[in-house]
Amino acid sequence: MYEVLFCFCILLHWRVFLPLVESSCQIWFPMLTFAFLSLPLLRKTDVKIRKQNEKRETKRKQETVFYVFLRVSLANIGKFKLSLKALILSVFTFICFLVFSNAFRRTKIFCSSCSSIMAKESQYALPDGRYLCSVCRAQVISQPDQILKIKKLVINRLIDEGVRFQEKRLESVPIEIVNVNRLAQLRNQPPSITQKGLTLTRSEMTLGGKLFGSTPKMSHHIYILDNLIKIEFAGTLAHEIMHVWQNENQIKLAAPQCEGLCNLGSWLAYNTIKSSKTPYFLKVMQENPDPVYGDGFRHVYSKYQQVGWEGVLQLARSGQL
Ligand SMILES: [Zn+2]
Ligand SMILES: [Zn+2]
Repeated sequence: MYEVLFCFCILLHWRVFLPLVESSCQIWFPMLTFAFLSLPLLRKTDVKIRKQNEKRETKRKQETVFYVFLRVSLANIGKFKLSLKALILSVFTFICFLVFSNAFRRTKIFCSSCSSIMAKESQYALPDGRYLCSVCRAQVISQPDQILKIKKLVINRLIDEGVRFQEKRLESVPIEIVNVNRLAQLRNQPPSITQKGLTLTRSEMTLGGKLFGSTPKMSHHIYILDNLIKIEFAGTLAHEIMHVWQNENQIKLAAPQCEGLCNLGSWLAYNTIKSSKTPYFLKVMQENPDPVYGDGFRHVYSKYQQVGWEGVLQLARSGQL
């Protein structure tokens, strides 16, 4: 829609406004107009790219483009006779575009799961402030049999890579779907839709264990945020299961290594679930600017590329990840 409007305005300038202007102004006039038009158009790409660092980069680029055109245009003004009519028309166009671009920006809503831009009629608002597109809404995981199926898939994949648990397939570990407020309450933190999972582990030392110094028996409870689609659910679950593994092995890593290792579990889950959304979820994780979850994952992933899964688990066990 925005592109159509942009083309229409260009056409309008070319056919209607330009013939009104004296021929001597025709060099700087399109340049100045283009400079004005480029600002809101480039601002639109800024909305599409949602990550912090990319946003900064785009902003820098659009500022450069805008100022180059503006400077070239202004440098040429003195060489030609300035038409007041042309100047008023340019300013008017510029204001129109700012108003239009902001109006379009406000009405744009992204799907919280797949990040696609949604048409107004296909938006589904969740009570916690998230929005789901119609495709994602139809794929939301909520039923116990769906959860069990994903749990089996994720655990089997992790076992294949050498991840071992006290109880082979974590049969007794409950996976509970909770809303954002309950998750925040369990974490003892303010509600946040970016936190999609939580693992609580309790260790019970038996009398025999105390006497012989063996490892304590662990019991875990995994909580997952509601309204996640299959691949998102699997990635979150794999992340939490890697916390289970670290807890059972009493591994104490610094936050980036700890969360990075858990995200390597998510990376495996994303690659296991073949979905049209797999590339999107992989990209988001690989480019996450967060110093703990993003940098941590890139660090652990580089180790994985050198030594494989077994090697990474070994490094974590020895505290050298
Ligand atoms: Zn979606
Ligand atoms: Zn975590």
